[in-house]
Amino acid sequence: MQTYIEEEEDINNIDSNNLELLSYDKENISNRVKEIKNSIAILNKELSELTLDCRHSDGYNIKLIIKNDGSRVGLRKICDICDNIIGYPTSNEKNEWCNDGKDIDK
Ligand SMILES: [Zn+2]
Repeated sequence: MQTYIEEEEDINNIDSNNLELLSYDKENISNRVKEIKNSIAILNKELSELTLDCRHSDGYNIKLIIKNDGSRVGLRKICDICDNIIGYPTSNEKNEWCNDGKDIDK
């Protein structure tokens, strides 16, 4: 009988330890997610400011843009400096792209 009670106490201790660990992890994950999202927002703001400042004056490449879901958007002009989409290629540029390099960007 005494042994049974001791075992029960051990199980209760393990359970409460696990619960503390779980709630600690939840809080950690939640805080880290907030930190990362905040960092992404700050970096996105800096990225769009840099893109606005760029004059896209130092050349560009033609690249096939593919979305994260794998669907193709098409050929676009990509600025060499800021790596931003700056327009559509001419039909000559499209033909050149088909014959030469096929830089695929996401
Ligand atoms: Zn640019």
